[in-house]
Amino acid sequence: MMGTVVSVDLWSEDPEAGQLALEEVFEEAARIDRLMSTYKDESEISKINREAASGPVAAGDELFGLIRRSHDISVLTLGAFDITYDSVGQHYDFRSRQRPDEKTVEAERTHIDYQLVNLDQAAGTIEFLEDGVRINLGGIAKGYVVERGVEILRHRGVRNAIVTAGGDSRLLGDRRGRPWMVGIRDPRNDGQVAISVPLADEAISTSGDYERYFDEDGVRYHHIIQPKTGEPASGVHSASVFGPDAVMTDALSTSVFVMGVERGLILIGTLPDYESIVIDAEGRVFYSDGLMQPEAQSFD
Ligand code: ADP
Ligand code: MG
Repeated sequence: MMGTVVSVDLWSEDPEAGQLALEEVFEEAARIDRLMSTYKDESEISKINREAASGPVAAGDELFGLIRRSHDISVLTLGAFDITYDSVGQHYDFRSRQRPDEKTVEAERTHIDYQLVNLDQAAGTIEFLEDGVRINLGGIAKGYVVERGVEILRHRGVRNAIVTAGGDSRLLGDRRGRPWMVGIRDPRNDGQVAISVPLADEAISTSGDYERYFDEDGVRYHHIIQPKTGEPASGVHSASVFGPDAVMTDALSTSVFVMGVERGLILIGTLPDYESIVIDAEGRVFYSDGLMQPEAQSFD
């Protein structure tokens, strides 16, 4: 779903109840996908992309809410996170190794600016201030799926679970008395874990340049766009963020990836509930201030 794999692990004393809970989470993921996928012509977001440059379009509470949160995160990240990246992003097709040429990037990147999306809170409508603007929630919707998934499980009385959509996971409780061990992939060795993080009751998201990409003439063209240039962001191989809310960790991992090690970790330092681990293009690992550096550990 949503171009990625959604998975759920849970404990239940009652197999039938557990099975029903699983099914409800997958139905919810499918529902959100139908609402928010730009690959589906009949989705609400596709309608907005078709019509919002001609006038305000009613978005519905849920979609409006997520577009609003995206807007707030654009402000917080000084534009590193920007759902209007899609004016350029739409020209990529990673499976067929397609990318926009220089002229297309030049022309389309002028439409990347979250301030071109007008949100009318009272009316619940979205309007684009010029032609050519497009929005895509790919950097935040998976976090929303896992957050909603965990909410459903909690409602059904599940106390220990993990819900994952691509690079985004939300943990409910612990792993029956021990923390969940969440692996951050080695960005250049498929299937290898670079770092394991013990977590309980938290969300963790990783953005990497190895998720959707192709290599051409020694350049890696991948799916995370630097809004300022319209090109794939460089300098980082993976950015992980963990904290209480998966919508935030999803958007923040994309943001830290775009902002780079220094500015990204400064941003995380201003958010008391969130921590980050970044692997840069040389394979070096950086930790946000709230995490103890392994070198600084002492065992006596
Ligand atoms: P994943 O999709 O692997 O979980 P991310 O959470 O980092 O990875 O999301 C990357 C997705 O975010 C891209 O596929 C694209 O849909 C969207 N995106 C790309 N660049 C930006 C950006 N600058 N701001 C917001 N969303 C972006
Ligand atoms: Mg993300």
